[in-house]
Amino acid sequence: MVLSTVGVIGGGQLARMMIPPAVELGITIKVLEEAPGMSAELAATGVGDYRDLETVIAFAETVDVVTFDHEHVPPAILRELVARGIPVRPGPDALLFAQDKLHMRAKLTELGLPVPDWAAIESADELAEFLETHGGRAVVKTARGGYDGKGVRVVSEPHSVDDWFLALAEDGRGGALLVEELVSFRRELAQLVARRPSGEVSAWPVVETVQRDGVCAEVIAPAPQSAGRIADLAADIATAVATGLGVTGVLAVELFETTDGRLLVNELAMRPHNSGHWSIEGSTTSQFEQHLRAVLDLPLGATGSRDVWSVMVNILGGPADGTLQDRYPAALAAHPMVKIHGYGKEPRPGRKVGHVTASGDDLDEVAYQARSAAAFFEG
Ligand code: ADP
Repeated sequence: MVLSTVGVIGGGQLARMMIPPAVELGITIKVLEEAPGMSAELAATGVGDYRDLETVIAFAETVDVVTFDHEHVPPAILRELVARGIPVRPGPDALLFAQDKLHMRAKLTELGLPVPDWAAIESADELAEFLETHGGRAVVKTARGGYDGKGVRVVSEPHSVDDWFLALAEDGRGGALLVEELVSFRRELAQLVARRPSGEVSAWPVVETVQRDGVCAEVIAPAPQSAGRIADLAADIATAVATGLGVTGVLAVELFETTDGRLLVNELAMRPHNSGHWSIEGSTTSQFEQHLRAVLDLPLGATGSRDVWSVMVNILGGPADGTLQDRYPAALAAHPMVKIHGYGKEPRPGRKVGHVTASGDDLDEVAYQARSAAAFFEG
């Protein structure tokens, strides 16, 4: 049977950006949004809580395949969908590794993939031990629920995450924190791939991501000076992760390029990712179209770049007064070559409300165009 209706759980901008390629391919897309008026409202068939089994089942029964805008749907609910014969892509067993950083580190270590030195810790004493053997500094992370750098602390003192230990104990579920070496890195990269249930994997060029205050600010595609060894290594690592974890759909692998030239896996996301927004204009097949193809088990599209360089800059926060659209006349007049994306979200400090992408032959010029266009939407 050829599947043709995709159901997306979560109504954020990632679901929103799946809508245009669905329209182009003539595929039906339905979104379960968590609140009225979200980014993907245009395709929303209802509002509902993704933590409620009945709500998710009722939604899933109206589609051919279920996929996601985020990783927060409880595994037990996803297993119930699978038990009822509803295709869930990525499936619950794979998704667990994007939901829980300890599971992810353990699995990647088992697969022999390069990760920072790490340990699971349950007390200040265990943190003290790790600090002693790792030069007195380390990074502690909550296993679940972190995003945009929340749930990540650089520490040099064994008691600096006592509040997290306490919260875990109070939660009743117990569990551990992840501690890892403070990696000395040259830059952060992201490698996106897509994988079909049949096993076909396709990789985009590796990109450089620039973070500010733990949030992705800018993406350069491809990563400068990555041709050859770095590009091949990044693609090999991400392909091994996708295959080893049985991921279906888009997989983003966030990587550190260390000062001594190694690549280490930091984070995984099993859905379209901020580091792939450039592909909407910059690649033959965007990450959003590829995600639809992959979860529908259709042949994947070509992933080469259309231009030598693409630079994507996030619009963070947005205008202090008014809407993004208020700034459109000036921004569009000044930057006719730049593509501007608004997510239909209310401006709020730090919030990702849109992005801009510029492409061309000259990296300095492309970066200038993208940064300068994004600046029209600040303050
Ligand atoms: P989140 O899930 O909140 O995005 P990440 O694990 O990606 O958290 O960490 C956020 C940022 O913190 C990373 O982009 C990186 O800049 C920094 N970071 C995370 N882990 C390490 C590490 N082991 N060494 C050095 N910096 C790190």
